Amino acid sequence: MEYSLIDIGLRHEKNRTLILKPYKHLFFDLDGTLWDLKRNTRAAMTELFDMHQSEIGHVDFELFFQRYHHHNDQAWALYRQDKIKKDELRYVRFERAFADLGHTDAHAFVDRFSLDFLEVAPRQSLTMEGAHELLEHCMPHYDMHIITNGFVEVQGHKMKAANLESYFKEIINSEHCGVRKPHPDIFTYALEKAGATKSESLMIGDDWDADILGARDFGMDQAFLAYKEDEQNEVNEAHGNKPVRHNYRPTYTIHSLLELKNVL
Ligand SMILES: [Mg+2]
Repeated sequence: MEYSLIDIGLRHEKNRTLILKPYKHLFFDLDGTLWDLKRNTRAAMTELFDMHQSEIGHVDFELFFQRYHHHNDQAWALYRQDKIKKDELRYVRFERAFADLGHTDAHAFVDRFSLDFLEVAPRQSLTMEGAHELLEHCMPHYDMHIITNGFVEVQGHKMKAANLESYFKEIINSEHCGVRKPHPDIFTYALEKAGATKSESLMIGDDWDADILGARDFGMDQAFLAYKEDEQNEVNEAHGNKPVRHNYRPTYTIHSLLELKNVL
């Protein structure tokens, strides 16, 4: 996006002149962008392992956690493409993780475990580093909204548990509009609800496909929170492999949320 001099506002702050981009609306992803998905999932899973200790028996928690993430990522990718339904996503990520560790014939237990997870996980309250500081910083200057693909019955609980509710005007859930990020219709729906235009809006998220390519293809600026890629690149470097490369450069790439204070 190009900015004319008329569009650009100047703000003086301690001898520094910051150029404010002409955004009026900030659209945040929730899971893994504001609500700390990884640490909250670990906390919930630890609680569930205690609750179900007698049925689980001896299972290596770290290995299970790693297998869960692998299957969860795969299942979410299929869910985004409408190739599996919500109930299947809820169940298969656990079924496959337990199967990898030798629990292959425990359907009733896995079903209960997966339902319990939806009770316990949204009660977790950890936020991404700098989330509250950034939101406080932005609140006087922008209208802020959420666009999430997360399950409608749990996202509100997560926001409440993490004290995130008060910052946002519109909570756009994919289940309300019938399509998920990166589908352009969810961005159209979000802008309509917020009363925003593309050029005055910024999408902030941690998922390359859903948040970044989704917003780009819709025609909206994007801020990519790239910590997962940073972690992957550390692993790649340690193994002598090449870093992750994309053939598109987002409007902003940040490695922690507070970096956004430089442009907002
Ligand atoms: Mg996310």
